[in-house]
Amino acid sequence: MRAIARVCSNRKTAKQNGKPVRAFKPTSVDYDARIFAFREKDWTVSLTLVGGRERFKLAIGNYQLGLLKGTSPSSATLCKRQDGSYYVNIQIKSEAPDPMPSKRVIGVDMGRRDIAVTSIGDKWDGQQITDIRDKFVRVRASLQQKASKGTRSTRRRARQILQRLSGTERRYQTWLNHNISKLIVLSALQHNAIIAIEDLTGIRERTNQQPRNKTERRRSNSWAFFQLRLFLSYKSVKLGVELVAVNPAYTSQTCHKCLHIHPAKGKSYRSGKAFKCGHCDNHCDADENGSKVIELVGGSVNNPRGSVLSCNLADHIRATESPRLLAVG
Ligand SMILES: [Zn+2]
Repeated sequence: MRAIARVCSNRKTAKQNGKPVRAFKPTSVDYDARIFAFREKDWTVSLTLVGGRERFKLAIGNYQLGLLKGTSPSSATLCKRQDGSYYVNIQIKSEAPDPMPSKRVIGVDMGRRDIAVTSIGDKWDGQQITDIRDKFVRVRASLQQKASKGTRSTRRRARQILQRLSGTERRYQTWLNHNISKLIVLSALQHNAIIAIEDLTGIRERTNQQPRNKTERRRSNSWAFFQLRLFLSYKSVKLGVELVAVNPAYTSQTCHKCLHIHPAKGKSYRSGKAFKCGHCDNHCDADENGSKVIELVGGSVNNPRGSVLSCNLADHIRATESPRLLAVG
């Protein structure tokens, strides 16, 4: 029964990929509620196999036990490893808590000069990580040269080091992103606030439109930057914190105090790390200003009628002929 469904869906996928199906060699079996059951009192699962129903003790760690506790999973996948042993994947549907109704907004500006800056004053400096990454890039470049030019053994050694380096760098950045996103979500919980971030669908195209030097381009294409957003979204969902994504147009150029944008085309009140408004004399850190503008726009997404801001910003947008103001993600 499940095998039929499985082969059908396999053919369907193959068809979509445009590949002809020659043979179907299953390494896994899908189980649904009729043929799968989990029993918490002795941590066993029963599976219907070819020879009939059989019960297996789960060989899992405390973490998995914790996840399974109190749940009643109704589906699983039995998989075969390459060495011939079997394992079972149990699907748990977890109910995320409903986001709390809230009026406060924490704006988060990510990935410009600093890794992340929040409108309530938290800041994760990008300098340290940038230094580390630039160093990695330099070391890698020199190793790559060795990997292509040196003697046979030098080449092999260089390739090995290169592989190890990429792992080290990736793990460090992932660890950092986990911590930053966790702290942001926790402070949103603490302040009973929602989180506003920029809607960055298509950012690569946009940030790469202007000619930039090689280092800048590498940073804007960085997976780490997208990973931080990803972590932030899933941790918010998990802890019941609402997350809104606002249109990033002008967030870095608008003054968060008087909402002015530099009137001349191509000019900005922002220059590097500093923001200096020409209208109200507001001086501040550019990323801090960005996070506060994101907070304001996030507030009008959250509470559309209560803010004067939406009109003000709308005027700016009209003046520059960009039709889209807000996008709720
Ligand atoms: Zn101003």
